[in-house]
Amino acid sequence: MRDIIIIGSGPAGFTAAIYAARAELKPLLIASSVEIGGELMNTTEVENFPGFPEGIMGPDLMGKLQAQAERFGTEVVYDDVVSLDIDGPVKRVTLGNGETHEASALIYATGSAYRKLGLPEEELLSGHGLSWCATCDGFFFRQKTIAVVGGGDSAMEEATFLTRFADKVYVIHRRDSLKASKIMQQRAIDNEKIEFVWNSEVAAIVGETAVTGVTLRDTVTGEERLLELDGLFVAIGNDPRTHLVHGKLELTAEGTIAVDGRTSKTSLPGVFAAGDVIDPHYRQAITAAGSGTVAALDAEHYLAALGNENAAEALLENEFVAVD
Ligand SMILES: Cc1cc2nc3c(=O)[nH]c(=O)nc-3n(C[C@H](O)[C@H](O)[C@H](O)COP(=O)(O)OP(=O)(O)OC[C@H]3O[C@@H](n4cnc5c(N)ncnc54)[C@H](O)[C@@H]3O)c2cc1C
Repeated sequence: MRDIIIIGSGPAGFTAAIYAARAELKPLLIASSVEIGGELMNTTEVENFPGFPEGIMGPDLMGKLQAQAERFGTEVVYDDVVSLDIDGPVKRVTLGNGETHEASALIYATGSAYRKLGLPEEELLSGHGLSWCATCDGFFFRQKTIAVVGGGDSAMEEATFLTRFADKVYVIHRRDSLKASKIMQQRAIDNEKIEFVWNSEVAAIVGETAVTGVTLRDTVTGEERLLELDGLFVAIGNDPRTHLVHGKLELTAEGTIAVDGRTSKTSLPGVFAAGDVIDPHYRQAITAAGSGTVAALDAEHYLAALGNENAAEALLENEFVAVD
């Protein structure tokens, strides 16, 4: 049996692996069979991850995090976890290929998925004018004309934030009223750079190598028209990837895994969670990485309390660790 298994190969999973591997815990990291490297594999330039003053391409950053985790002895498996047995002291993880792995501690870092429009162009244009994150990509749209799709609080927040950069921000909404809170609505309505496009849905995203516009379909009349744009932000929701732990771990009202205060401790002993799967608010690569650190240190502490020799030694070397 292993000391620790980490599920997820995003910034949270790989950072947890770097810490666990450097503590000689020989982590096994289950990376998934399709999206190895997490959400940043879907983007181009990342300009806000500290340590890269010129910016770095998302896939390059994830390649570096993986190399750093492997350098210290992380074993990476390219498969999906399909079921979990985590109630008892032995945490059992079953993969798509039928193999089962066991460990004393588990770090769950499966991230979250931005809801997509369901259009075929989305994959091609992601990172090329199409984004799901204003904090990440707003800076690329200075003096541009862009649109935000959505009618909730997060769409209003994204649109208002994006007016710092863009000259014009359309808000495309399929109904004639918003579901955002009154205060968020008013802030957006009062902003002279924002124009609402009511009763409209995006029928297609236009652009071969980058977004140049959208085809809008009127939800009442069915008529279609072209709206020229330099960028499109989709803000229609985000789903934490928690389906494997439903009924096993406590969740929050927002659907993220509940953790104890600033720790990564879930409702089950020996099960820790990190990254976007616990975070309804910030959802950034650096916050996910920081959260992965917390999970590795919490897991080390837990293993040391169980009498695991490597974790106990690692803790003695890191006396600053105080997670209780
Ligand atoms: C297009 C885009 C651009 C972005 N740009 C930026 C940016 O510029 N700067 C920034 O700071 N943030 C950016 N973000 C946000 C950032 O990517 C996330 O906050 C961050 O990746 C979250 O890290 P995570 O490790 O929690 O999860 P993720 O990166 O989502 O990784 C989770 C991993 O777990 C895997 N997984 C899930 N279920 C299973 C399973 N059952 N078995 C095995 N593996 C599983 C997934 O496949 C995935 O690989 C961007 C996000 C998107 C979508």
